[in-house]
Amino acid sequence: MQRYDTRGFDLEARLADREDTGLRRDLAPVDSVGASARTAVDPKGEPPAFGDEKLVFAANNYLGLAGDDRLAAAAADTASAVGTGAGASRLVVGDTPAHRSLERRLAAEKSAERALVFSSGYAANVGTLTALSPDRIFSDELNHASIIDGARLSGADIEVYDHCDAAALEACMRDCADEAAADESWLVVTDSVFSMDGDVAPLADICDAADTYGAWVMVDEAHATGVYDGGIVGQRGLEDRVDVQLGTLSKALGAQGGFVAGDEPLVEYLLNAARSFVFSTGLAPPAAAAAERGLALAPQQRKPLWSNVDRLRSGLEALGYEVWGDTHILPVVVGDRGDALALADRLEDAGIVAPAIRPPTVPEGTSRIRLAPQATHTAADIDRCLAAFEVAGTEVGLL
Ligand code: PMP
Repeated sequence: MQRYDTRGFDLEARLADREDTGLRRDLAPVDSVGASARTAVDPKGEPPAFGDEKLVFAANNYLGLAGDDRLAAAAADTASAVGTGAGASRLVVGDTPAHRSLERRLAAEKSAERALVFSSGYAANVGTLTALSPDRIFSDELNHASIIDGARLSGADIEVYDHCDAAALEACMRDCADEAAADESWLVVTDSVFSMDGDVAPLADICDAADTYGAWVMVDEAHATGVYDGGIVGQRGLEDRVDVQLGTLSKALGAQGGFVAGDEPLVEYLLNAARSFVFSTGLAPPAAAAAERGLALAPQQRKPLWSNVDRLRSGLEALGYEVWGDTHILPVVVGDRGDALALADRLEDAGIVAPAIRPPTVPEGTSRIRLAPQATHTAADIDRCLAAFEVAGTEVGLL
C-alpha cells in the first residue's frame, strides 16, 4: 500500500472519490443467464451466496437467446469440431470456418458486401475509429463509451452535437466547414438505438447532413442488431448511405463479439489496420457459432419480445408512469435520484431486478429505471413486474 501511495497510485483515495461521486460499482453475480436468475446479495462473498430466483429486466439479452439450448448446442459442436479458442489472431492461424460462415451471414443480414467480426463491440468501435482515423468526428452527445474512447484514441478533432438532433449536426458541420481544409476527412458517428433513452437516431436526416458535407456515416447498431430485421439501418433502407454498420453479437444475438459490415475495401482495410483486430486473438469459435445460430433464430423471437414490450409499456403508462422512447428498451423516468434508488430497491425486494440509472450517467432530474423485457418472459412475468411497480411506486410516493 505504502508503495502505491508514494508513487501517486493512491487507489483507496481514488475509490473513495468514486464513492463520493456515485461512481463506485460492484460486481452483480447471477447464477445463470435468462429471463429469471438467482442473484447474490454479497458480490464479494467467495463464492457468492445466491438467493431466491428473481425476474431479470436488466439484461441486454433481448431475444432470450443467451440461455437458449440451440445456441448452446451450436457452441458445443463447434468447440468440439474447431476448438474452444481461436488460438491466434485471425491473420496468423486463427481464421476458422466458424468465423467465415458467420461473417457471410452478417454481411447478408446487413445487405453489405462483407463483414468482419471482432472480439467485442467495444473492440469493433475502438478498432474501426482508430483505423479510419478521420480528421474530424461528429458524435452524438449520448454515444456509447466505446465510440467516445475510439474517437479520442483516433486523434481526430471531435465535435459533439445535441442528442438525435440532425439540424444541430448540420449547423455544427456548417461552422466547421469555414475553418476546415477542403480535403479533411469527416465522419459522423451515432448509435441507432440509444440504450439509456430507448430512442432512435434520425438516420435519414443524419445521412442528408453528411451528404451535404461529404462526410462518412458510421452507425452503431449494438442495441438494434437482431431485434430489428437488418437493424434500424435496414428498416429505413439506408444500407447504401451508411458507410460503416457496426453491431454486437453480445446482446440480442445471445453470444459474444462485435462486427463491422460495409463495402469490400472497408473490411479489407480494417482487417489490416484495426489494431484491436490485428493484435488480438480471433473471436472464440463457439461464440461465432452461437451468434450465427442466434441470427437464424432471431426472427422467431421478435414477436414474443414485442408483445412483452407492448404489455409492459401500456401497463406502466396505465399505472401513471412516464415511459420514454419508442423501442424495446423502456426507461421509466421518475426524476429524483433518491426516488429511483428507493424504487429499484423495493422492486428487487419484490423479485424484480431492474437498475436505477442516475446522474452522472443521465442528467440530473431524469433518474430512471431501465427496463429491458426479454422474448422469454411470460405474460405472467410481465404482470408480476407491473404489480411490483404498482406496490413499490405507491410506497415511494410516486403514484
Ligand atoms: N456499442 C453500444 C451502443 C453499446 O451499448 C455497447 C455495450 N454496452 C457496445 C457498443 C459494446 O459492445 P460489447 O458489449 O459487445 O463490447
